[in-house]
Amino acid sequence: MTTPQLKLYNTLTREKVDFVPIDPANVRVYVCGPTVYDFAHIGNARPVIVFDVLFRLLRHLYGAEHVTYVRNITDVDDKINARALRDFPDLPLNEAIRKVTEKTETQFIADARALGCLDPTVQPRATDNIDQMQALIASLVQRGHAYVADGEVLFDVKSMPDYGALSGRNLDDNLAGARIAVEAHKRNPADFVLWKQSADHEPGWDSPWGRGRPGWHIECSAMSERYLWDEIQDRLSPAAHEHPHAFDIHGGGLDLIFPHHENEIAQSRCAHGTHAMANIWMHNGFLQVEGQKMSKSLGNFITINDLLETEKFGGRKWPGEVLRLAMLMTHYREPIDFSIKRLEEAEAKLRDWQRAAQGAALADSDGPDPSVTRELADDLGFHRAGVALDLIAKKANRDDGAPARHCLAATLRFLGFGQDTLLLSDQNADEPPHLAAAIAARLAALNGKDFAKADAIRTELADQGIALLDYKDEAGARQTKWEIKR
Ligand code: AMP
Ligand code: ZN
Repeated sequence: MTTPQLKLYNTLTREKVDFVPIDPANVRVYVCGPTVYDFAHIGNARPVIVFDVLFRLLRHLYGAEHVTYVRNITDVDDKINARALRDFPDLPLNEAIRKVTEKTETQFIADARALGCLDPTVQPRATDNIDQMQALIASLVQRGHAYVADGEVLFDVKSMPDYGALSGRNLDDNLAGARIAVEAHKRNPADFVLWKQSADHEPGWDSPWGRGRPGWHIECSAMSERYLWDEIQDRLSPAAHEHPHAFDIHGGGLDLIFPHHENEIAQSRCAHGTHAMANIWMHNGFLQVEGQKMSKSLGNFITINDLLETEKFGGRKWPGEVLRLAMLMTHYREPIDFSIKRLEEAEAKLRDWQRAAQGAALADSDGPDPSVTRELADDLGFHRAGVALDLIAKKANRDDGAPARHCLAATLRFLGFGQDTLLLSDQNADEPPHLAAAIAARLAALNGKDFAKADAIRTELADQGIALLDYKDEAGARQTKWEIKR
């Protein structure tokens, strides 16, 4: 079986390109993570899900242990300070900030898991990487790319001849179009903050430029470099050392192209005098809700947690895997209009597939069907992969469908649609002992045609909130699975 050539759309060159990792034994990906001051909304869920599919595909193509995926946690930001003051006015600010960020980070990680996403290899926090940020800033100052003015360290955009290449903006556009307030201490209105002074009551770290805190952009330059270069340098191939500090793929939502990613590139390249920060830049499109931009004032602002745990959207809770599929039904670069109808469609589709996959017993090594990975390898064509899944499901529903059923189950698991489903999970591995005994007794009753007894056991378990589901295994023998009733 030939492995498909992965092709990805590169925002930097504006074309779909063959993905050629710098070091195939160490494929390296960085995605900008959340700023942890509030629940993540369903727009934030999109990059989390899209880049999880990319992570899974890369692990499949290059081997799970050959892919490093870093997604950071931004836990220093003025929005966090404001939230801490609002929510915990009586606590010292640093303590209040910690309360806000820890709670939000825990919630975010739980949300991402509920959406069927694997944990990234590393989830570094900005506050654990202040030294790395200061080292980068020092290097930028020393190389003449940054200057100190008015207590701030600023990046000098004019010092980088190709500043603006990612977004296609040039500095004159910025001057004419963006109406950036001209701040007198800046040499150029587009110069951006690397380090700013903190007042006594604000969070701050000592530095050569006084007690202060980092700008947002420098956080990602520092964390990507540390976890995708510094810490793994020793195991990278000689070829990778010909591209020092560079990694393979950088991702995030469309809104991050300018200024965030543009500025990350400026910092990372100028600090070391290199030609590339990342080879491929990927950006997911935006999500709207029922045709409108999501906003608190319009009342259509929905958090991931709202969908999973409350009945605010459509009067019911939605399983994470349904939200996951609803998100993936549209190509990641297109805009999504999120709606109840879309969730219902996703749920119906997912249940069709899962019904067709019912009863397959998977081994750890069972992988996805090539018809699906082929579509994903073409710039993550998940919507086309869905058509391939439909075909497999159709075969699985025929009388002789056992191999297709097995293949469908393995493919759904690979795609992250397993955690909510009794049929695909390994939950029977840790089922409570009384349950195993009850299920065995019921199967014995059924096989002995003692249906009254079998029904009594089913009813007893139902009263405990446990639903039973019978199916035939690949050898045609009757089996039973269980799930917690919703
Ligand atoms: P933020 O916390 O606003 O920095 O956003 C975290 C991630 O979510 C970034 O990659 C954003 O680009 C992405 N994002 C924010 N809002 C949306 C949206 N409405 N649709 C899709 N992605 C979004
Ligand atoms: Zn970033």
